[in-house]
Amino acid sequence: MPIDATRPYDESNIFARILRGEIPCSKVYEDEYVLAFNDIAPQAPIHILVIPKGAYVSWDDFSARASAEEIAGFVRAVGRIAREAGLVEPGYRLLANVGANGGQEVPHLHVHIFGGHPLGPMLVR
Ligand code: AMP
Repeated sequence: MPIDATRPYDESNIFARILRGEIPCSKVYEDEYVLAFNDIAPQAPIHILVIPKGAYVSWDDFSARASAEEIAGFVRAVGRIAREAGLVEPGYRLLANVGANGGQEVPHLHVHIFGGHPLGPMLVR
């Protein structure tokens, strides 16, 4: 069920629980700013989620409240993870769903990295 991205951060969301180590994940990368792990229901041969370590509901929340250091750390990590997954030469897609119309289901900012085969045209339906 899509979330309301204007609600306050919910510490019990599943990605917060992964960050606290309460739930396992298939970790791809971690540094002081981000954790990246494989999506549990992959929609492409490579489907990685990158989340900031800070408590941000969505891209809207992150872009408004995160420090310049956190934003730089997050953006650089997304690029590095895709690069290290070998996705630059064949190409890849980034996606961040925001709120109800975006279809966001987990209320902790996450960027999807998709790759591993041709992804076709962007779908907005
Ligand atoms: P979104 O619709 O953008 O909020 O995407 C949420 C994503 O989180 C979906 O692609 C889910 O498959 C994924 N997901 C949900 N729970 C987990 C989990 N425990 N580990 C990894 N991925 C998850």
